[in-house]
Amino acid sequence: MNSNIKPIGIENLEICKACGGKCCKTYPGPATPEDFGAPDIKKLRENLIEALSTGKWTIDWINQDEGLYFVRPAVKGFEGSVFDHNYLGECALLTPQGCSLDFEKRPESCRMLIPKIGEKCDPQGYTRLAVAKRWKEYYDILMDVAIEAENMI
Ligand code: SF4
Ligand code: SF4
Repeated sequence: MNSNIKPIGIENLEICKACGGKCCKTYPGPATPEDFGAPDIKKLRENLIEALSTGKWTIDWINQDEGLYFVRPAVKGFEGSVFDHNYLGECALLTPQGCSLDFEKRPESCRMLIPKIGEKCDPQGYTRLAVAKRWKEYYDILMDVAIEAENMI
């Protein structure tokens, strides 16, 4: 992954520990193409296949006709599906101790979420639609790696 173009954000363990991870219990944070190595296509392909074939990551969508897909961690209980369209559910990467990923390896929307007391956390515009629009130029790669990963699960 190219850390030069990856925004990292600021973790606030004090606020999030007190909250207990309500965002992660509601829905997994969408990841961006850059989280998987874009714009380096080779890295993007390799990292996506590696992640999807673990069954802990999945491809979701906003609008299939418009090619608006995005990648996110699986929802607990739905691991092992290359495609999944659950609208709610706990992130498969959440443990009783918090996220199982190091902070800089978490999806961009998770890293950029600004924790605030009283769960008034600021998502900074990282909606599913906004993230899906960033994946659109990689649509062909997503469909391609999905077929490869499906054969590996
Ligand atoms: S980002 Fe907000 S909702 Fe998520 S764990 Fe932290 S305080 Fe809770
Ligand atoms: S990847 Fe980590 S921070 Fe993001 S929703 Fe899942 S458990 Fe939470």
